[in-house]
Amino acid sequence: MKIAVLALQGDFEEHQSAVERLGIETLQLRQRSDLEQEFDALILPGGESTVQGKLLRELDMFDPICERIKSGLPVMATCAGLILLAREIAGSDIRHFGVLDVTVRRNAYGRQLESFQACGKFTGADEEIPMSFIRAPRIERVGSGVEVLAKVGDTPVAVRENNILGMAFHPEVSADNSVMRYFIENIVRQK
Ligand code: GLN
Repeated sequence: MKIAVLALQGDFEEHQSAVERLGIETLQLRQRSDLEQEFDALILPGGESTVQGKLLRELDMFDPICERIKSGLPVMATCAGLILLAREIAGSDIRHFGVLDVTVRRNAYGRQLESFQACGKFTGADEEIPMSFIRAPRIERVGSGVEVLAKVGDTPVAVRENNILGMAFHPEVSADNSVMRYFIENIVRQK
């Protein structure tokens, strides 16, 4: 198994280390030709969604990646990556891949909560898991085909729609690997 990490901007190295800690090989997607390599799944890291969206388009990687996701490529996305996948960005006309039926609002947790830690139940784990929010988007709406895997209060923070797993928080910055294991066991290996 090989997992590709979009490596244009953001915390892609943390994701790579988290995958490699599980003994799984990774590769970085930095330019269009990198997409010719074989891989079984894709990770869209956190960072700045506007910058990532712009670079994806400038480097001609946007359409081929969008097609691969639509044809069932397993994808795990955190934070900015979740914004790239969302069907709708509240208060904005911009849409990137638009393949995950949720509405997200960027930087929605307000100044004092700009970055914060929480703990919560995640469907794939027995114990509560640590959740790190960094200028996170808030998931304001989930479509009927979207499964909510974790909530903080009443707000969904991890969602799944078929081959797509999206988180508002950053599992890769914690030593807990429940989310990554869920992704590999329930999405990548079930493909
Ligand atoms: N605020 C960023 C955005 O809107 C997301 C933050 C993150 O990925 N940690 O793109």
